[in-house]
Amino acid sequence: MSHYFSEIFTGGKSLLVGLGVTFKALTSPVVTVQYPREKIDISPNMRGHIDLIKDSESKNGLHRCISCGLCARNCPCSCIVVKGEKQEGVKGKVLKIFTLEFSKCSLCGLCVESCPTSAIDFSDEYELAAFSREAFNFDLLKRVQQGDTK
Ligand code: SF4
Ligand code: SF4
Repeated sequence: MSHYFSEIFTGGKSLLVGLGVTFKALTSPVVTVQYPREKIDISPNMRGHIDLIKDSESKNGLHRCISCGLCARNCPCSCIVVKGEKQEGVKGKVLKIFTLEFSKCSLCGLCVESCPTSAIDFSDEYELAAFSREAFNFDLLKRVQQGDTK
């Protein structure tokens, strides 16, 4: 008989403890974000793919890249292609091609660190999904020309 009452007591206690946990969860602040309708602020340390930084005060009025190719040479994954051309009446080279094969990038940051003009930085792009690797071949010059960069 005493075993019967002890079982009832243990069951009742367990029920109350369980309800306590439920009530605590009900009254605590909601931390779940209803993505993609809601989005949280991205950390400044976030490393998305690299991008040319927009700079309207630069020599060409668009970006600070001088086509030196240091970033491409320092990239351990060989995923950057930079090409510049000499143009009549213009000092230095004019950037013609700046592409990134992001599917190969390890986000190591060597390109960003080695750039002598601080022309590139990590973007905060994280909504990247595609069905082919080619979709991750980015034309970074076009992106900055179209105003798609920060
Ligand atoms: S972050 Fe590293 S791997 Fe990616 S492009 Fe720059 S140097 Fe290459
Ligand atoms: S290192 Fe900087 S300036 Fe040189 S090509 Fe790369 S982005 Fe341009």
